[in-house]
Amino acid sequence: MSDYSINTKCVQGGYTPGNGEPRQIPIIQSTTFKYDTSEDMGKLFDLEASGYFYSRLQNPTCDMVAKKICELEGGAAAMLTSSGQAANFFALFNICETGSHIVASSSIYGGTFNLISVTMKKMGIDVTFVDPDCSEEVLNAAFQDNTRAVFGESIANPALTVLDIEKFANAAHAHGVPLVVDNTFPTPVNLRPIEWGADIVTHSTTKYMDGHGACIGGVIVDAGKFDWMANADKFPGLCTPDDSYHGITYAEKFGKEGAFITKATSQLMRDFGCVQSPQSAFILNLGLESLHVRMPRHVENGQAVAEFLEGHDKIEYVNYPSLPSNKYYEVSKKYMPNGGCGVVSFEIKGGREAAEKFMKNLKLAAIETHVADARTCCLNPATSTHRQMSDEQLKAAGVPAGLVRMSCGLEDKNDLIKDLAQALDAI
Ligand SMILES: *Cc1c(COP(=O)(O)O)cnc(C)c1O
Repeated sequence: MSDYSINTKCVQGGYTPGNGEPRQIPIIQSTTFKYDTSEDMGKLFDLEASGYFYSRLQNPTCDMVAKKICELEGGAAAMLTSSGQAANFFALFNICETGSHIVASSSIYGGTFNLISVTMKKMGIDVTFVDPDCSEEVLNAAFQDNTRAVFGESIANPALTVLDIEKFANAAHAHGVPLVVDNTFPTPVNLRPIEWGADIVTHSTTKYMDGHGACIGGVIVDAGKFDWMANADKFPGLCTPDDSYHGITYAEKFGKEGAFITKATSQLMRDFGCVQSPQSAFILNLGLESLHVRMPRHVENGQAVAEFLEGHDKIEYVNYPSLPSNKYYEVSKKYMPNGGCGVVSFEIKGGREAAEKFMKNLKLAAIETHVADARTCCLNPATSTHRQMSDEQLKAAGVPAGLVRMSCGLEDKNDLIKDLAQALDAI
């Protein structure tokens, strides 16, 4: 598939049926796989042969879909996980252990912030959060001798900050560690972080990749470019024998291209079991088949809504990276010339009361905590996810009471604008 454009890879990547085989990816709904001899199966356990024995470790349907996403991102190997949370946890925990340290952008998804700053901290993994817009000096100063990974989001959910991937990749590589980028919002259709130096790419496939709000899922893609052996002192888990897996040294046996995903599968998936079901993977693949058709529409609708709101007298400000007034306009144009995603945030004048009225009057846009779905939805954090916070606390957290996050779906943009206009009129 590597010679084809990303549009073709969305449709046909990951699976090429042979003569008389099913046109659509088969759902292999089986926990286990049958062998004629114990010797045959033993070779799989020893990682001497590739094949399937138990769907907690690998499943053919999941592997076909992972392969498609791997092709879309331009990676070397990939694996599906049960959720985006599991993908980010595995991507980091595969190279970090007690005593390690992570440098992370402070502008990331709340769930990931919690994962790194609270739960992984309990495992003895430390973190330094940096402002994604910080200077190279400040970024370099965040590294420690025990730093093992750098983490950021290409477009942050929900702040919509755009990561300068080259700046973060250069700093990571200068310190002998990989850059992990969560690329959920732009998807590989609009941005491929590996082309800009990222080593590991993760996704919550729950968002645009599925795109229909049907299944929770995640994926990890390894670029296959990071030289673990050249930094062997930092990555003993990849560069020294794994006693829990027949003394295999992953970086030696599977090389740069295979080591990371093989270790994440044979250790982390074996022990934590955060698998995506074959049914979910099949549904995810249906979403992927139209990802390249849907993303431009999400962007078109996001842009139209952002432009409409920017000119409206009841709106304090609009945050959308491809508006020329946006702080990230230049960096967004550099990394995402075709636009980023359909999520727009804006502050309504009049605070909590005005926002509540606005939300109540929306007819087409639904009130949901979800984003990146075919159907447009809105969220006012002050009256929902952040309702325990006072107006002062909200302001300090950068989520003023009048803030609305809107995920523009695939409807007609004129209908979306009409809905917004009448809801604003009602304030
Ligand atoms: C939603 C989201 C996640 C978490 O994904 P789940 O599939 O909900 O576990 C991680 N990162 C980003 C950027 C997200 O938007």
